[in-house]
Amino acid sequence: MQVQSFNDLPLSDDVLRGIKDLGFEKPSPIQAQSIMPLLQGRDVIGQAQTGTGKTAAFGIPMVESIDLLDRRVQGLVLAPTRELAVQIADHISRISRYTGIRVCPIYGGEKINKQIRQLKSGVHIVVGTPGRIIDHLERGTLKLKDVHTVVLDEADRMLDMGFIKDINKILDRVPKHKQTSLFSATMDRNIWKICDKYMDRPEKILVSEDEIALEQIHQRYVKVDTSSRYPILEELIADQGIRKAIIFTRTKRGAHQLARKLKNSGYNADSLHGNLSQPQRDRVTRGFRKHNVDFLVATDIAARGLDITGITHIINYNIPRETLSYFHRIGRTARMEAEGTAITFVAHGEEKAMADIKAQTSTRITELKTSVNVKAGPAEKHRAICRKCKIEFDLPFKPTDGRPVYCLPCLKTRKRHYRRRH
Ligand code: AMP
Repeated sequence: MQVQSFNDLPLSDDVLRGIKDLGFEKPSPIQAQSIMPLLQGRDVIGQAQTGTGKTAAFGIPMVESIDLLDRRVQGLVLAPTRELAVQIADHISRISRYTGIRVCPIYGGEKINKQIRQLKSGVHIVVGTPGRIIDHLERGTLKLKDVHTVVLDEADRMLDMGFIKDINKILDRVPKHKQTSLFSATMDRNIWKICDKYMDRPEKILVSEDEIALEQIHQRYVKVDTSSRYPILEELIADQGIRKAIIFTRTKRGAHQLARKLKNSGYNADSLHGNLSQPQRDRVTRGFRKHNVDFLVATDIAARGLDITGITHIINYNIPRETLSYFHRIGRTARMEAEGTAITFVAHGEEKAMADIKAQTSTRITELKTSVNVKAGPAEKHRAICRKCKIEFDLPFKPTDGRPVYCLPCLKTRKRHYRRRH
């Protein structure tokens, strides 16, 4: 059955009310495909990025599976970062707003005693980062023997961050007969290994790239060099109607310095990167969410999974190192129905990285011209064969068709010879 509306699904009135309050009118593709199998108790592998509505795709069935009268942990979601854990917990709390279900985020960087108190008071769903979950398991402050539903969110990211051992350790502590689902933007051998080990005949759901909101994102690129990068950013802010943007830099230091430069120029900017403490990160994210900050200068790791509405632009101040990061970055704008623009700065030597990105998407990425002067890159080299010694060499210009060319040593000997004769 093609699920057109949330009413087509066997959901309780309380959950439907929660979904309505969130303003969701119809299920997104990943929701339309995964909610039903999950409600039926099947294991699910969902290949989908953030921005597709995957949190509700696993959150809605998880909420429906909870026995309210049993105050022990029944649902467990593992997520790679603190920000994501908080966001998922918040999302599930909103879905379950009218059900009385208690959801608790568990992550490193926050005082453990507060979490212990919360866990003691009885929670139904725990959303946490692997490291802190292990910490609680070792202290005996979190028990997983009543867990019947487990979700691994952003599994690829968790593996990238080296959580594989922790994940195995945690999954070995939950009862064997449980429902397991796994969501990941990419699937590789190590992820399939987890699936084989912990899942039972999973349903595989793929949300293809066209279904991800790429069409709603206007993608542009702009050529820059070292000295024009910042003036170009300032011009874009003034000319492109950038109201709220995440500006991605390659390094933590770069993020810190650019935010400071923007602040000194009078912009409302702040930075988010891995060198900040958890309270600092929370403060910055909150400021950006609440519109106190217009420009968030961030590194990939810090901004991953952030779900903040109203972001009009993503600026790749430094082009991402990996093509996939590009899609994660630009996915921070155009959340669900909204539109957004992504502008990528391309310096000399980075054309290949931009071409790789272009090759991965069917949507167009067009050049954006600015009035700032950008120095031409190093002259293009052309291969040529020396007429005299027949050796191949680089020429800094395109040789004219039919005209003989000489390599430098041969050219010098020719000149000497020429001078002697005249
Ligand atoms: P996620 O991929 O779970 O991070 O969700 C991305 C954004 O889409 C979040 O802001 C959700 O609130 C929103 N969202 C999720 N499902 C729907 C839906 N069915 N209709 C409209 N918005 C949704």
